[in-house]
Amino acid sequence: MSAPDGKKRKRVQHLGTVVGTSTVSDHLVRVTLAVESEAFEPKESITDSYVKLLFADPGLQLVPPFDVDAIREVHGPAGVPVTRTYTIRAARPRTEGGWELDLDFVTHGDTGLAGPWAAGAQVGDVIAFHGPGGAYAPRPGAWHLLGGDEAALPAIAAALESMGPDEVGVAVLDVAGPGDRIDISAPAGVELRWLERGGEWTPESTTLASGVAAVEIPAGADAQVFVHGERESMKDLRRLLTEKHGLDRKQMSLSAYWAYGRAEDEFQAEKRTPIGKIFPEDA
Ligand SMILES: Cc1cc2nc3c(=O)[nH]c(=O)nc-3n(C[C@H](O)[C@H](O)[C@H](O)COP(=O)(O)OP(=O)(O)OC[C@H]3O[C@@H](n4cnc5c(N)ncnc54)[C@H](O)[C@@H]3O)c2cc1C
Repeated sequence: MSAPDGKKRKRVQHLGTVVGTSTVSDHLVRVTLAVESEAFEPKESITDSYVKLLFADPGLQLVPPFDVDAIREVHGPAGVPVTRTYTIRAARPRTEGGWELDLDFVTHGDTGLAGPWAAGAQVGDVIAFHGPGGAYAPRPGAWHLLGGDEAALPAIAAALESMGPDEVGVAVLDVAGPGDRIDISAPAGVELRWLERGGEWTPESTTLASGVAAVEIPAGADAQVFVHGERESMKDLRRLLTEKHGLDRKQMSLSAYWAYGRAEDEFQAEKRTPIGKIFPEDA
């Protein structure tokens, strides 16, 4: 990101200290962070707001916050901490100032950085992050179609819980098994359709796409869509939502949250190549 003077702008880093962890479901663990930084403000009007957690190579023994330029100079680009993106499931002001954030992490085995970090997080651990980003909030009065796998559950739950009592629609929730259902307080008019795919997500998994295909959007409804999850599944859903449901892109928040077999760095880099684009028309 560049400033008007053409110089690269340094992104502000905040520090979060782990103040608690809990099990949300079979594959979701909650890490609660205390953030003291006065510069941090959660986007409270946005329900998919997210932070980018920074993970440094443990072998370099770097202490957050990270001086990325200095690290690059000493250790080269490979030494620069990598980011992992997580939805702010809930944000509460702390009485002593700053914020307390709940982040819910999918635990997907021993691979990766963020999932294993969350599974082993201890009170007192400190993590650096950028953010928040995010853009979606349910529009009051719209007909809501929400969908996603476990990685999108925090954002979907936050959206449903923010809605007024008269909102209507359907949420299609694709999870591994019965122990992956979570408590969500949704308006009575929004039907929660829990679909169990019977194990971990694989490229053959079509549960989410068939669940969304089965949704009947009422004729003439002012539909607003929020669907996120694995990349290939999102491509199927883009086709389905535009071709079967006849929706316009402007009505949709539809993006990949992760990609099968890709670490997030690779997945983010691929967004600039054809395989990484959900909407092929994107330059
Ligand atoms: C805006 C946004 C918000 C997000 N919010 C959340 C959130 O609240 N909670 C959450 O858990 N995730 C969320 N994600 C997804 C998360 O950023 C990715 O899943 C990330 O790749 C996890 O990092 P990792 O270090 O655990 O695994 P990586 O090092 O990135 O990947 C290692 C391996 O694990 C696989 N993998 C990664 N994620 C999953 C998964 N969910 N299920 C199965 N296999 C996986 C990869 O395909 C790869 O093979 C969000 C992503 C975006 C873009």
